[in-house]
Amino acid sequence: MHQTITRRRFLVGSAQLALVAGAGVACARGPRPELPVLAHDIPPSAWSDLARRLSGHVLRPGAASWSRIVTPNNLVFNTFPAGVARCANPNDVAQSILWAREYKVPFVARCGGHNYAGYSTTSGLMIDLGLLNRVDFNRDTKIATIGGGTLNSTLYPALQKLGVTITHGRCPTVGVGGFFLGGGIGFNMRAHGLACDQLVGTQLVTADGQVRTVDPKSDLFWACRGGAGGNFGINTSFSVQTFNVPAPLTVFSLSWTAKPRDVYAALMAALDGAPAGLGSRLQITAGQPPSVQLLGQLVGTPDQVRNILRPAYAIATPDSEQITEMSYWTAQVKFLSELGSPGFYQERSRFFKGGLSAAAIDTAFDWARRWPGTTQGSHMVLFQTGQEVNALPPAATAFVHRDSDWLMTINLSWGSDTSDELLKQNRDWLNGFYGAMIAFATPGSYQNFPDPSLTNYLDSYYGRNLQKLQSVKADVDPQCVFKYPQAIPPAGGCRA
Ligand SMILES: Cc1cc2nc3c(=O)[nH]c(=O)nc-3n(C[C@H](O)[C@H](O)[C@H](O)COP(=O)(O)OP(=O)(O)OC[C@H]3O[C@@H](n4cnc5c(N)ncnc54)[C@H](O)[C@@H]3O)c2cc1C
Repeated sequence: MHQTITRRRFLVGSAQLALVAGAGVACARGPRPELPVLAHDIPPSAWSDLARRLSGHVLRPGAASWSRIVTPNNLVFNTFPAGVARCANPNDVAQSILWAREYKVPFVARCGGHNYAGYSTTSGLMIDLGLLNRVDFNRDTKIATIGGGTLNSTLYPALQKLGVTITHGRCPTVGVGGFFLGGGIGFNMRAHGLACDQLVGTQLVTADGQVRTVDPKSDLFWACRGGAGGNFGINTSFSVQTFNVPAPLTVFSLSWTAKPRDVYAALMAALDGAPAGLGSRLQITAGQPPSVQLLGQLVGTPDQVRNILRPAYAIATPDSEQITEMSYWTAQVKFLSELGSPGFYQERSRFFKGGLSAAAIDTAFDWARRWPGTTQGSHMVLFQTGQEVNALPPAATAFVHRDSDWLMTINLSWGSDTSDELLKQNRDWLNGFYGAMIAFATPGSYQNFPDPSLTNYLDSYYGRNLQKLQSVKADVDPQCVFKYPQAIPPAGGCRA
């Protein structure tokens, strides 16, 4: 099942028409909504039939909102669907699944479209959940019920009005669908656990077209807490236990170019000993010379932040430093947020137990210095995990990575004008860097940063929880109606 999809493979239906120019030539890889992309010979009457079944509507190429809805975040995987079902309610989702099965059209669910590996793209039917974006709130229980197609940009203002929060990321256009199902990391996780740990209920439409309120004690619910999107059905809502926004909150952003290796080592040691109310992201920007950036939040004061970072200040003064107290949601939206605009990129991840050793840090800086370069950038980012992320045993939810202190990702971005030759050099470098770092890491990779070049992806994402996930898959989707290149196969394989 493993499939490496390169930017050269823009699958245009069964013809697999490559849309890129020859080697070394600049390639047109932006959204091209006008192109005919028919994976299957779907008669117009079939589309009319789908439209009749939905309270929402069907979009076909050329529709006004087409490009906005179909373009994925990672443009490497810019495959266009033959049509989009814009679902207005769970029944629309059920009808879309049944229609796709009846007409034998491949389909995927799309929430925010931020899957790194393009697993919410298809040349068949895209089941778009963007209209399922309500946020309801129970003031007694503080449980928020969030529509399965909600984007962070809708969720954050809703939570802000209520004075509550959850563990969430930084990008406004990431969707809750993929985020919750694959774990969900963010600056609140060390104090409050992962987003999937805060999940207390979900509604799911399964392959048979049933709309199910999933029993929180069931294995299916367990699987929805880290088993990744696109495997078991389409979740039309997520109920999440919120908590009050913390105060006081201090956010910080610092950058160093002087003595970056030693600053990095000092920061890592300092952050490792920090309280659970601190969330951080520590970055090496590749280049000659590499530099170091730190971004994060502390439930505490600016003085407390400076105190934690004192060992790094003792080595070198930062080139830029912002450490400021802010109200929670202003901090998230105005200071910590990342734009996450669509682009061409690849990321490879691994978890670390404990801080990186001196040898690991030397290795990282050595590779960072040797980056071949693109017009974009490359970074080794460490997200600080630990504390409450590790409070649950690995088998408590499908998210198995419960023994880490850092999650590393090495990212590489390039432009549409990057030559094939330069891209190859960059990809080789990325693989070399990653290969050198995994010698120091634990075996797991984060399922929400799916990596098409992993060969042992099922073990890497799910470890010892894989067997149970495969049993759940055999129960709810034995025929593999939900599939993508790294999907969880049912125990015993897909049935006819
Ligand atoms: C810029 C950027 C920033 C990010 N920041 C963070 C971060 O801070 N923390 C973090 O943990 N991750 C982060 N991620 C990773 C992100 O969590 C995953 O890519 C996630 O899968 C995206 O969800 P989505 O709904 O936007 O994606 P989509 O591509 O729409 O969906 C992802 C997968 O889930 C399936 N799916 C989507 N919705 C549903 C649903 N309702 N029911 C069932 N299946 C569904 C899709 O078919 C697909 O297989 C980031 C990614 C990007 C590109």
